[in-house]
Amino acid sequence: MVFTQIVARGIDDAKLLAVMGSIPRHLFVDEALADRAYNDAPLPIGEGQTISQPYIVARMTAMLQLTGDEEILEVGTGSGYQTAVLARLCRKVFTIERLPSLAEAARKRLLCQLGIYNVVYRVGDGSLGWPEQRLFDRILVTAGAPAVPERLTAQLTVGGMLVLPEGDIHRQHLVRVVRYVAGIRREQFDPCRFVPLVGDQAWSLPE
Ligand code: SAH
Repeated sequence: MVFTQIVARGIDDAKLLAVMGSIPRHLFVDEALADRAYNDAPLPIGEGQTISQPYIVARMTAMLQLTGDEEILEVGTGSGYQTAVLARLCRKVFTIERLPSLAEAARKRLLCQLGIYNVVYRVGDGSLGWPEQRLFDRILVTAGAPAVPERLTAQLTVGGMLVLPEGDIHRQHLVRVVRYVAGIRREQFDPCRFVPLVGDQAWSLPE
């Protein structure tokens, strides 16, 4: 998976590649899908949600330019796969998920099966940011948003970066926002396709 899907597409961060090679992705999907866990595709994780394609996980993580010392806010815990990758590459992850059943399954996986302890879990609407006022060095949103929620950029440290898929319900682009003292700078990257970010500062649930 790492060589044919990630290195072949130009990602050469040795630490990131080693971490993705070390996390057993089949633990993050239903047993019936385990033989497809290393395929070049997203997979269903229940409740209409998906675990992202391995390359997209690598690409978004690389875009965060981690040094190892960061505190990261992740919006959209989902299966917890991206959470595990981040946790092995930074000091602490604060992850928030809307759906309690997914949040609980991810927490159990990381704690009991992988022994990953530097993660704080929350159930709630991450489009509003982390409930307590605090700043993060990095923010990663793993669900598609119509626009970058201001509540999230407001929780970035100066020099901090946010990566999120932005676009309509069906198609998005990866966007990176860097916060400076005087404001923010935006850059747009690869096209992508994510399940929607559903929340107060994002899409509303269909009636
Ligand atoms: N990184 C995850 C991706 C899961 S899909 C993985 O690879 O497994 C996106 C997740 O975002 C879904 O679990 C969905 O329930 C969650 N989500 C959507 N809107 C949200 C919101 N406002 N706050 C927190 N989580 C949200």
